Amino acid sequence: MPALLFQLLAAQSELSMPLLNYSFFCALAGCIAFSIGSCKAQKLADTSAYNHQDLFGPINWPVPGNEIRSANGSPGAHYWQNKADYTIHATLSEKDTSISGNVIINYTNNSPDKLEYLWLQLDQNLFRPDSRGAATTPINGDRFNVKGFGRGGYRISSVTVTYQNKKYTLNPIVTDTRMQLRLNERLEANGGRISIEINYGFAIPFYGADRMGRLKTRNGYIYEIAQWYPRVCVYDDAEGWNTLPYMGLGEFYCEYGDFDYYITAPADMLVFGSGDLLNPAEVLTAKQITRLKEASKSDQTVMIINKDEVAKPETHLKQNGTLTWHFNIKNSRDIAWAASKAFLWDAAKVDLPSGRNIIAQSAYPIESSGENAWGRSTEYLKHSIEIYSKAYLEYPWNSAVSISGVALGMEYPGIIFCLHNLKNENLWADVTHEIGHNWFPMIVGSNERKYMWQDEGFNTFINQYAAEQFNKGEYFHPENRPAKAIAREMKTNTDPLMTPPEAMDLDDYGLYYNKTSLCLDMLRNVVLGPERFDYAFKIYISRWAMKHPLPYDFFRTMNDAAGEDLNWFWKEWFLTTWKLDQAVTSVKYVFGTPSKGSIITIENLEKAAMPVDLKIVQADGKTEMLRLPVEIWQRGGSWTFKYPSAGKIQSIEIDPDHQLPDVNRGNNIYKEGIKLNTQIFNKKRAVGR
Ligand SMILES: [Zn+2]
Repeated sequence: MPALLFQLLAAQSELSMPLLNYSFFCALAGCIAFSIGSCKAQKLADTSAYNHQDLFGPINWPVPGNEIRSANGSPGAHYWQNKADYTIHATLSEKDTSISGNVIINYTNNSPDKLEYLWLQLDQNLFRPDSRGAATTPINGDRFNVKGFGRGGYRISSVTVTYQNKKYTLNPIVTDTRMQLRLNERLEANGGRISIEINYGFAIPFYGADRMGRLKTRNGYIYEIAQWYPRVCVYDDAEGWNTLPYMGLGEFYCEYGDFDYYITAPADMLVFGSGDLLNPAEVLTAKQITRLKEASKSDQTVMIINKDEVAKPETHLKQNGTLTWHFNIKNSRDIAWAASKAFLWDAAKVDLPSGRNIIAQSAYPIESSGENAWGRSTEYLKHSIEIYSKAYLEYPWNSAVSISGVALGMEYPGIIFCLHNLKNENLWADVTHEIGHNWFPMIVGSNERKYMWQDEGFNTFINQYAAEQFNKGEYFHPENRPAKAIAREMKTNTDPLMTPPEAMDLDDYGLYYNKTSLCLDMLRNVVLGPERFDYAFKIYISRWAMKHPLPYDFFRTMNDAAGEDLNWFWKEWFLTTWKLDQAVTSVKYVFGTPSKGSIITIENLEKAAMPVDLKIVQADGKTEMLRLPVEIWQRGGSWTFKYPSAGKIQSIEIDPDHQLPDVNRGNNIYKEGIKLNTQIFNKKRAVGR
């Protein structure tokens, strides 16, 4: 008995059909061929889990297209965004490991609403023992380990408001990590301006939720200072005031504005911050300024302070007292800084597409140095910025700094914090990821506290292209396909990507990164093709640079610029935890004769659907790749098509390149003479087919 016939007869017997003879089988095959070629439409029933209505039925986005956010995904003609400009004077005291500061916030209300009150973020309050973040930290801790400490949290000593030339103080209402300022008079809409001056202080936590803190090194502490001044919450057209508290996982959502800030620190410390250092002559030695100039013209990393010089008196302009470092950055959503006596310092030039040159710098303790470690940080930083600038949008600022310290990896505009003991590929991955965040969410300013996938996932997606390009793929592993691992994670995952971070299972939040990245890969390589995807993705970035896109603005832009209704895609991968299981379930021949063509049936067994890639190998060795569009699943979960084979089919494989997170790859393969996965036939029986 030919192997194929055995297989088909076995299949029929499983369907409780009478044992069939060879001629009946030929007629059966012909019948299928007839139904394909005749006027009678193929009946496209859904399989057990799949329901084509669930997937392809209408979706109404919660935010309709309007004059603020257009239906095509771009900022509308009346898009508005408020602005917060900051002037800050802050002092780092080593004696009591604290920051004291004065901030003046000039806030512009461009919204159409008069505002009775303002909301500010007081993120340091996370470290109070009674914070919500401390209360919700699991008994065995987690990555953020927010247990609070006795001195933790902001001390707000005064709040003064100046509005329409009237000045008054007010008592702020503080609720956990938020502060409400109830105004004496409403702030005018459409450009009303108000000034708020706050005197404040806080003790620097050792471990600031893996985002800031202090690290003890041989030559002194490294202070990584972030979430360090009262920041205005975003007021937008979608939520009004965005007042979600800071609890650990959910990061930050801040307004854009200009920052002018002064950091006073002990004179034997170096200070690095977001933006431009405006007073180098007042804080650096002549030798350091000369070396910095040399570095700003060099493709190779230049040491500004080397390991023989670190912590020596001659590396400081002044031996006693303090120095004040003056920084400035424009059109930024935040600032952070770092200070230490222990820093080695190196730098190199970055070439940007416009011809502009900026500077990449790294600062790290002697323990982190070495060519297999932080000695290459600046090289990683420089090339990452060059790659992302060329591929997506030019880096807008003049400096980028990578700091070695206590935080595993954290990003701010123009400055990143990476873990002190990382080496080689791990350091590369950390540096390229954290600086990648300067595109998402620092340039494309999405709401991190609510839609974590929109920055972590997009950043992870671009990181893999940086790895491919950096130093001829030194750290690129094309064989590491993420789809398989993600399929494994998705089997138990119960929270969709649209879940806010504080409600996401802590074992699953990695999906914000790798599932989102895989989704963009699938969209690029399987659904749209690289050319159409890259165009639409760049449109999204340019439309929303220095603005606040919602998820729907991204979905709409991709639909519109790529020219496809991709709502099914957004629904299955971002709004649900639906799984994908594509299967080949039957191979027959027209009139039982392979040379007349093959009749192949594939099925979609789970709730998600995707286009189908098939690798078909015929007995004579001829191999062909076939792509069927997702539209084959629009009316049901079973699809039969004719393939013009010249002889027997030797094998068929669905998704041979493992691009999809198929939860059951066992049923993706047909091999001549080997019975197809019985699980499929059981499923067929279960739905009465
Ligand atoms: Zn990240």
